[in-house]
Amino acid sequence: MTGLLKFSGSSSDYSSSKFVIFGAPFDSTTSFRSGQRFGPNRIREASSTLERFVYTNQTNFKEIGVYDMGDVELTVNPDKMIEHVYEATRKILSDGKFPIMLGGEHSVSIGASLALREFDGSILFLDAHPDFRDSLLGERLSHGSVAKRSIENLSLEKVAAIGLRSISMEEFHDPAFKRYNMSTTDDVRREGVEKIVEKSLTKLNSDKIYLSLDLDIIDPAFAPGVATPEPFGLDPFHIREIIKLIGKKLVGADIVELDPPYDNGNTAILAARFVQEIISSKTSH
Ligand code: MN
Ligand code: MN
Repeated sequence: MTGLLKFSGSSSDYSSSKFVIFGAPFDSTTSFRSGQRFGPNRIREASSTLERFVYTNQTNFKEIGVYDMGDVELTVNPDKMIEHVYEATRKILSDGKFPIMLGGEHSVSIGASLALREFDGSILFLDAHPDFRDSLLGERLSHGSVAKRSIENLSLEKVAAIGLRSISMEEFHDPAFKRYNMSTTDDVRREGVEKIVEKSLTKLNSDKIYLSLDLDIIDPAFAPGVATPEPFGLDPFHIREIIKLIGKKLVGADIVELDPPYDNGNTAILAARFVQEIISSKTSH
């Protein structure tokens, strides 16, 4: 583990912390614009502007045990990065703690799915894209294949997605995709967050949910600093509500695809705030 910057308020040590933050700086399989390797530290930097108190449910970050263990070892090889993420996630989960990974591009979450397999966990993706391709640009461990690999590592019943709005023909005609527990951005806007989350969770039927938050689920107007921006997105309130609704069932989370070179600063602050919201949703009464 490396790195000097720490997430704001992560002042506890490992043994007394319930929440463990770590970074996965990686962008080797990116298909459009790169820079996600700078994500973890930019989120840490942005976190310094936030209050260490979330007034909505009086979460006090000075009192909660939060530890930032730095970044996993740097590599440009997807196999190795996924292995690093798998090991970090497995260690944190097996110590009875809650991992929060800062990406990095979305392929790093494949490592989390490998760890979740050992803990009977499931994954809920929040993403504009299904990431259901068998491979992208010749790489099977791609940001475009995260859901596909996660389903192989877990099962179709243990994976769900909310917020999709950009689906390739290959993905659309995949027989597994027809049975996939997913809803679109339009579904959320039409039916409301509460109903969509209820539908997803009923089908997912798991009390151990890992949230994988690809920041491109949010409209580029709110979150321009992502690698593959997609118009017609959700707004940050939708995401906060989803986090609140599933909070009690969460066992871990990641926030991926922040692309600092393309950010005006707002996406990083939003990402930092989502870290707080995730912790806050677990600690609220
Ligand atoms: Mn994704
Ligand atoms: Mn995406």
